Amino acid sequence: VSKSKVTVVGSGNWGSVAAKLIASNTLKLNSFHDEVRMWVFEETLQTDEKLTDVINKTNENVKYLPGIKLGKNVIADPDLDNAVKDANMLVFVTPHQFMEGICKRLVGKVRGDVEAISLIKGMEVKMEGPCMISNLISEQLGINCSVLMGANIANEIAVEKFSEATVGYRDNREIAEQWVKLFSTPYFMVTPVQDVEGVELCGTLKNVVAIAAGFVDGLEMGNNTKAAIMRIGLREMRAFSKLLFSSVRDSTFFESCGVADVITTCLGGRNRKVAEAFARNGGKRSFDDLEAEMLQGQKLQGVSTAREVYEVLSHRGWLELFPLFATVHEICVGRLPPSAIVEYSEKKPRLS
Ligand code: NAD
Ligand code: 13P
Repeated sequence: VSKSKVTVVGSGNWGSVAAKLIASNTLKLNSFHDEVRMWVFEETLQTDEKLTDVINKTNENVKYLPGIKLGKNVIADPDLDNAVKDANMLVFVTPHQFMEGICKRLVGKVRGDVEAISLIKGMEVKMEGPCMISNLISEQLGINCSVLMGANIANEIAVEKFSEATVGYRDNREIAEQWVKLFSTPYFMVTPVQDVEGVELCGTLKNVVAIAAGFVDGLEMGNNTKAAIMRIGLREMRAFSKLLFSSVRDSTFFESCGVADVITTCLGGRNRKVAEAFARNGGKRSFDDLEAEMLQGQKLQGVSTAREVYEVLSHRGWLELFPLFATVHEICVGRLPPSAIVEYSEKKPRLS
């Protein structure tokens, strides 16, 4: 039986942790080649060295995951075509805004029998409507794409603290089991769910809720208010997902990708942190500025997702049904002050 070969496309904070998780398993499991290739968006460090060279020399992603050994079988590769050409399992994990360009570059470059999984939380909005990232990958490359989402702050998994995750798959349970095998460790418990859209929308939309939670923190409104925001956010996540895809299941929102990811991101995520700073500054400093200053090259997904969701809402006449989502975007672009996050319910109809 031929062994599966895995390539990770992306090498940011979560991308590096994903490579570490996978590499620990490919060493142990006979059905996988030991080597895990990791495509790196090449950059030159302040030391004048190339990031790829440093990763291959020290076995550490010194910029996006300093202090953590990835495993000697992780090989960083700055050449995208070369990194994917032999792989029959592709793991996509870049900030969502770069995926359209990456997919274009990959057309005709991947193996015909390749299976993909997306760990990317985000979506694109096209003229025809919203397009989930797994769908973008499937359609542009003509391949099947599952998703893995969950309550997964990368830095905590990097130091092997226990967490759970959800694999969303379309119809092939065997492929889902293969992904579960590749990712599972005693500290990373993965559950498959046959609801790819529901799982991916959970991961995508919770970033908008996390921005709202950050505003509440910046305004020092306390735990009850934050819990209210999380509850209303979860309801809007479910309603929006079901309006887009009637197949989305209620039970998905009780998996790690749903309520658990809302909680961890609203407590400890980057979206929350930067939104808190935004509110503390009274909305006077832009998210782009704060992101560059606070995240050292890491990228926020929530602000652009709020814009993308807003586009869908306004295009379909749903703005009034989703006051929290709509208000987050209006605060991000400066049309409303951060305090509007708790004022909207008095002015707009609530979601029943
Ligand atoms: P990150 O936020 O660390 O982003 C930085 C990465 O983007 C770097 O690898 C950088 O080289 C790359 N990059 C910069 N410009 C680029 C360009 N023009 N083209 C391609 N790549 C470019 O990345 P991350 O944390 O690995 O996040 C990737 C995805 O995983 C996101 O959708 C995120 O929501 C999701 N996610 C993140 C976490 C987390 O805790 N970090 C957890 C779960 C899911
Ligand atoms: P942030 O991007 O807000 O850090 O969230 C990370 C995440 O997705 C945790 O599951």
